[in-house]
Amino acid sequence: MLNTLAPQPPDALLALIKQFEADDRSDKIDLGVGVYRTGEGDTPVFDAIKKAEHRLHEEQTSKAYLGPEGDMGFVNALMPYLFGKDATRGGRISGMQTPGGTGAVRLALALAQKAGVTRVHLGLPSWPNHAQILKDLGLETVGFDHASADGSADLDAVLAAIRGAQAGDAVLLHACCHNPTGIDYTDEQWDQIAAALADSEALPLIDIAYQGLGRGMEEDAYGMRAVLAAVPEALIAQSCDKNFGVYRDRVGAFYAMAEQGSQIDAIMSNAAALARANWSMPPDHGGATVRIILRDDELTGLWLDELETMRARLNEVRAKLAEAGTAGSVDLSPIGKQSGLFSVLPLAKSQIETLRDEHAIYMAGSGRINVAGLHMGNIDKFVQALASVTS
Ligand code: PMP
Repeated sequence: MLNTLAPQPPDALLALIKQFEADDRSDKIDLGVGVYRTGEGDTPVFDAIKKAEHRLHEEQTSKAYLGPEGDMGFVNALMPYLFGKDATRGGRISGMQTPGGTGAVRLALALAQKAGVTRVHLGLPSWPNHAQILKDLGLETVGFDHASADGSADLDAVLAAIRGAQAGDAVLLHACCHNPTGIDYTDEQWDQIAAALADSEALPLIDIAYQGLGRGMEEDAYGMRAVLAAVPEALIAQSCDKNFGVYRDRVGAFYAMAEQGSQIDAIMSNAAALARANWSMPPDHGGATVRIILRDDELTGLWLDELETMRARLNEVRAKLAEAGTAGSVDLSPIGKQSGLFSVLPLAKSQIETLRDEHAIYMAGSGRINVAGLHMGNIDKFVQALASVTS
């Protein structure tokens, strides 16, 4: 039976990581994988995480099972950062821990499907796993353009998608630091999106995987909070993997906002049943570590400082790229206005290959770059190489 399975292509980015590792050129540049890097090219464990892990090691007395909801102390401690004051919206929002943001997206979409959603509107391009999860669940994807030709977010396209949506439709939106384009809706655009969603029967699903890496923890939550204030119900998929740097520990959370507080327990019981059938319960270590940080003022301060250092470095690299103006035919100036780890360069496949083969610069086949792969010591080489392959 198993011999009927056709081979699947390897994950392109993971294959790129292997190729990068095997390259022995000393000036190679990795713009592929989506992790933060320091100016020295490292992805270190946050000091706040190290300190909280020590404490967890001392304090943890049992590793007996938790329930499918995971560590509710973690889930609840995150809520003020996500939802601000009145974080439960009068008892209408509740959550559970998930294996990373991927688990949260999967759970949100599976729950939406269980509630009757059959189609999901998605701005394209998007994080490739969105389409994969939708396909795997058998949900129809209806794409709309995320960005317009001038490099800003395409407000008309998202509004048209929302206005054209019907009952049985969901709209999946990135809260901030859009992956892959780096192009976010402005606050004014979010206000219009929220108003359109208020008039629509579509169910909003907000994916917030990079809070704090764009403008700030509060600022990056603006759009999500505007939507939650305008609509009766919504789903939220959160990841701590980037803003706490705990990628492989798989730390995320799923939240639902019900129209009325009396409905939330039934909604979450369905989410728990789906989690049980998928992963039973999430891995504990990372969530427990984040909980220890968020319940301690000193560790919280340390974490927020480390997050600010990351954000400042990303914005410094962005400013430096924008300052370069153009590299051959590529206009780098929009990168300065974008947010988070990513940007997409308008490059042909052959140009991306030449950058890799002749200049040891590695990026995804879509032209997506991780700006954290750049620093003051390699930006000039990158800009020159880009100019040489596009002139
Ligand atoms: N959503 C988006 C938009 C992402 O870019 C990512 C990570 N690449 C995730 C969700 C999931 O993150 P993780 O599973 O690593 O927490």
